[in-house]
Amino acid sequence: MNNADLIIIGAGPGGYRAAEYAAKQGLKVVIFEGSEVGGTCLNVGCIPTKTYVHSATFDEARERMAVVVPQLRAGVEGILSNPNITLVREKASFVDSNTVKASPSGEVWRGVNIIIATGSDSKAIPVPGIDCPGVVDSTGLLNLDTLPKRLCIIGAGVIGMEFANVFHRFGSEVTVVEFLKECLPALDSDIAKRLRKQMEKEGIAFKMGAGVKSLTSGEGGINVCFEQKGKEDSVEADIVLMATGRKPRTGGLNLEAAGITLARNGSIPVDENFQIPSPNSTLYAIGDVNGRQMLAHAAEMQAIRVVNHIIGKKDGIRFDIMPAAIFTSPEAACVGLTEDQLKEQGVAYVCKKSFWRANGKALAMGEAEGLLKLFVSPDGLILGCHAYGAHSADIVQEVSVLMCKNTTVEELADMVHIHPTLSEILFVAAEA
Ligand code: NAD
Repeated sequence: MNNADLIIIGAGPGGYRAAEYAAKQGLKVVIFEGSEVGGTCLNVGCIPTKTYVHSATFDEARERMAVVVPQLRAGVEGILSNPNITLVREKASFVDSNTVKASPSGEVWRGVNIIIATGSDSKAIPVPGIDCPGVVDSTGLLNLDTLPKRLCIIGAGVIGMEFANVFHRFGSEVTVVEFLKECLPALDSDIAKRLRKQMEKEGIAFKMGAGVKSLTSGEGGINVCFEQKGKEDSVEADIVLMATGRKPRTGGLNLEAAGITLARNGSIPVDENFQIPSPNSTLYAIGDVNGRQMLAHAAEMQAIRVVNHIIGKKDGIRFDIMPAAIFTSPEAACVGLTEDQLKEQGVAYVCKKSFWRANGKALAMGEAEGLLKLFVSPDGLILGCHAYGAHSADIVQEVSVLMCKNTTVEELADMVHIHPTLSEILFVAAEA
């Protein structure tokens, strides 16, 4: 029997960050990874898609992905080579609430605490034909050898919108079929609509309010049949991307042996310290597997909170302020409440707007498209910021920092912003 202070299952952004931070605090860590280190984010998610966003052609994107991904993976392996960390390149499953077994070796480890950081898998919709050849998830799309002539994307969430953008730019004919009235459900609907209209103007077709009913494979390709405004319609495509959400990955963990019961949506329930509730629990779940916020940076911060909780250190991480970005072109980003949520919740607010077309740097860059909306309470507190436009993620990051410090919009208007920069877009909104 091997012993560790901390067992971590999964070496994605949550797992490897927990290992790195725990090892720095002097804990003896063992981390299990049944696939490549780096998780979905590094191997088949954020990083590969960003190489696609920043490549001119499909072939260039694939070549760059083949360089960037192993380079970053080597970086993570470097982190995990810390003498306080043992990396076991095998799958782990629970024997009891303090013990896991590696497979296939059968090696057994006992840990004082255990973190589950196993991530998520893509979720397919329950319609006939999802097994047709040419129907892929985001990993399958990244692994294609040739650019599809016609690509149909089911779901206009983050994954659907990011891939619609890059594949259209590479030359595919792209149609997005979305069940809801608007794309990007987490984004302010006004911002989401403007972004979609911009993408439509560039040539991407959107079928909104359209629920997919079936997929059939035929001579002309894959027929995606959907219902829109009570009428049946269809799109033909060579490849269909299923971008209809992700589900927590818990299969094969033998969670019952550790006394863990899943929530109805398949996630592992956790409290504010990402601890799995039970008397004397020494079990934690971080990242996509707890279903809270399926974002790599959320997983990383959850990792820090868990290790702090284990070593008895208080931190000030604000999990209620979780910025996010969508890497379309132009990109979109958000933090805090949307205007729709403010209205629904009856919160008093004013909306301060600022446009990319009024910013010198944006015009000089040829990036005139974009809008930032800053929501402010009557006493000046920032309630949210939603934007689309070049580098909006960097601008929203500034807002996120200000929100963490409860900075008022008046205080923001007193802060010097470099000229000429896109950050002046926020400054102008604050002054509005
Ligand atoms: P999502 O939940 O963001 O979007 C899925 C979309 O599919 C929804 O708009 C939904 O209405 C639609 N849909 C569902 N069933 C449908 C049907 N039958 N017909 C048509 N449309 C249908 O999910 P996603 O885009 O797959 O992303 C998964 C997760 O990964 C999300 O939590 C996302 O935040 C995360 N992610 C984040 C980033 C980023 O932050 N940049 C990038 C990729 C993924």
